[in-house]
Amino acid sequence: MIGTLYESYGLYHLRPSTHVGAVMESPSLIHAQLGHPSLTKLQQLVPALSKLSRLDCESCQLGKHSRTSFPRSVTRDASSPFAWFTLTFAILAALNLL
Ligand SMILES: [Zn+2]
Repeated sequence: MIGTLYESYGLYHLRPSTHVGAVMESPSLIHAQLGHPSLTKLQQLVPALSKLSRLDCESCQLGKHSRTSFPRSVTRDASSPFAWFTLTFAILAALNLL
């Protein structure tokens, strides 16, 4: 258990169960346990982290990366030696020459 929740002005705040020093030692752990909120939201939830200037989280950085899309179609020409071999093998097999 990382702490207790209390409500104030319609917002739920986290009151850490350990002393402030322990919270400052593991802000990344608390960030992960709370579902990876932004630094601003984390500081609203855990006022003990209000002096934290940045939070480096590899999972959040990877989540913001974009991927390149796959090509819409595969080229069907025999431009590579493997494609030429595959095409030749398919033709010979179709003609029952193998
Ligand atoms: Zn994160």
